[in-house]
Amino acid sequence: MLFKKKKFERKVILQREVLDSILSYCQMQHPEEGILILKGKSKNGEINVDGLVIPPFNYTGDTFAGIPNSFLPFDMSYIGIVHSHPSGDAEPSVTDLNNFFGLVSLIVKSPYSDDSVFAWDSSGNAIPLSIK
Ligand SMILES: [Zn+2]
Repeated sequence: MLFKKKKFERKVILQREVLDSILSYCQMQHPEEGILILKGKSKNGEINVDGLVIPPFNYTGDTFAGIPNSFLPFDMSYIGIVHSHPSGDAEPSVTDLNNFFGLVSLIVKSPYSDDSVFAWDSSGNAIPLSIK
């Protein structure tokens, strides 16, 4: 009998109040990009986002909002970043993927409604997202 290694289904679970905070933060930053650090836990491929941190250092521009990795404190509960795309495009840019941090990258496109949020992995593949 062959032992088949279980392949975990990846998914991102976003707490309702975290989503609301992300959306209002991105609306405030508009037309600039907004960026936040995602806090949470990952278990068996399930990424549970339960908090947000405003980066200690950030820069925004027309094309990319990012955090230099060297400025991030080492914290295992930092599982990714979320940033907005005021242009209304939800696809991660090459720059986004090159600056990937953590396990997941959330992108919120304009106009920042509940269905404007998308989750991506470091290769630019979509991860299913659900709101709890
Ligand atoms: Zn981007």
